[in-house]
Amino acid sequence: MKRIAVYPGSFDPVTLGHLDIIKRGSCVFDEIIVAVLNNSSRHPLFSVSERKAMLTAATCHLDHVRIDSFNGPFVDYMIDNGLSVILRGLREIADFEYEMKSAWVNKYLDHHIETCFMISVNPSASLSSGAVKKIAQHGGDASGLVPEVADRFLKKILCTEKEKMLLKKGGD
Ligand code: ADP
Repeated sequence: MKRIAVYPGSFDPVTLGHLDIIKRGSCVFDEIIVAVLNNSSRHPLFSVSERKAMLTAATCHLDHVRIDSFNGPFVDYMIDNGLSVILRGLREIADFEYEMKSAWVNKYLDHHIETCFMISVNPSASLSSGAVKKIAQHGGDASGLVPEVADRFLKKILCTEKEKMLLKKGGD
């Protein structure tokens, strides 16, 4: 039987920490499905299609990695697609507490579901999409924290945001 694991997340944008989990996961499982959460109500910086495009480009050198997206409860995505293994990354204690609860809830909702954790390896232990956005929005260089494609997307979107702000200021 093919061992498939689903790696869900926001990936807003994908970081080298995410990529490390995807790479290591693809050595353990026959296929990794990276599932992008459609969380438009939380106002992500990038649209789902932009996040999928970044992930597709960043993982194109890896075999058996597929990019998908989902809306609504993740457990429904798993059940609807006949999937049972969730892959998650663990960085710090805060991740552990959240992940324990989430794994328990998913198992309660469907007892077939197993959650597998991979610990973050240095230097990515404190790396998050949120930290990357903060660094980039403050004019810092995030190129060492994200795949090249995500760095290009970040620079482009921040440049557009800056232009919009300048235009707005000019119009006031
Ligand atoms: P973020 O917290 O960066 O916004 P996501 O919500 O997209 O990330 O998280 C998706 C999964 O990736 C979670 O299991 C999260 O713990 C894991 N993850 C995120 N960053 C890292 C990292 N630097 N190292 C290991 N796992 C990570």
